[in-house]
Amino acid sequence: MHRSRAVMAWNVFKFCTALRGLGSIMILLVLGVVGVTYYAVVLNNYGPALYDGGIDSLVSLAVLIPFHSLLVMLLWSYFSVVLTDPGSVPPNWRPAIDEERGEADPLNGSEFSGVQSDQSNQRIRYCRKCNQLKPPRCHHCSVCGRCVLKMDHHCVWVVNCVGALNYKYFLLFLFYTFLETSLVTLSLSPHFIAFFSDGEIPGTPGTLATTFLAFVLNLAFALSVLGFLIMHISLVSANTTTIEAYEKKTTPKWRYDLGRKKNFEQVFGADKRYWFIPTYSDDDLRRMPALQGLEYPSKPDFDSQEF
Ligand SMILES: [Zn+2]
Ligand SMILES: [Zn+2]
Repeated sequence: MHRSRAVMAWNVFKFCTALRGLGSIMILLVLGVVGVTYYAVVLNNYGPALYDGGIDSLVSLAVLIPFHSLLVMLLWSYFSVVLTDPGSVPPNWRPAIDEERGEADPLNGSEFSGVQSDQSNQRIRYCRKCNQLKPPRCHHCSVCGRCVLKMDHHCVWVVNCVGALNYKYFLLFLFYTFLETSLVTLSLSPHFIAFFSDGEIPGTPGTLATTFLAFVLNLAFALSVLGFLIMHISLVSANTTTIEAYEKKTTPKWRYDLGRKKNFEQVFGADKRYWFIPTYSDDDLRRMPALQGLEYPSKPDFDSQEF
């Protein structure tokens, strides 16, 4: 029993080390895909067509302007997720004591294990590995080796955990990646179809291969990111994280579900001007505790409900 647990722990450790090692490679991989795509769309196809004059120039502009705008937003969001700390527990963090409930000792009734149930949000949880109390919605990430505020998942593509402070940036990254890869797929599809026609195709084997590769990669990303995007839209509209959605399967009522609009604002902020960029207004950061990752408003009538 102990032996198998030790073996499992060792496997998890090796897996986590491998994931960490993968880190910089994943960033290079993302930049590689961007590079191949840029070469195919701008340098090979629509850049040169810009000088053809007439309708060709107009079509090129109609592709190149949104292509570059989306690329800037995509890279801005991407590096915001990579470089923003998802949120860690402040040293010696203690919960505010709930006097009404008489929980003078926050450790009363807590479970001293890394496993939590959805009900434990009401109780104070403790992380054995970090030796500290866990704020609500906080989870321990075995890859990062620490507790992460409102942890959603550990994402290998961004070499970081996705949590309270960078979840919005992650969603924007998905959103802009979907738009950009769809645009590239559409704009390269005439060139892709030309491969299978009988006529002579202009270009060297190298440039043709790059166009082919860029089309296939972007189509694959567009389809897989769309699935991910739909999943996260439903998570945001219910104010849950991936981990919570998995844990609360048996609980029909969710204490943090404030209604669709408020749930959206809990992630994106209330200021509309900041919804599409990976940052928050100072006002929102001051006014909305959820954006700091330590306290989350719950349904007003929830405390009276039975768990
Ligand atoms: Zn921990
Ligand atoms: Zn992590």
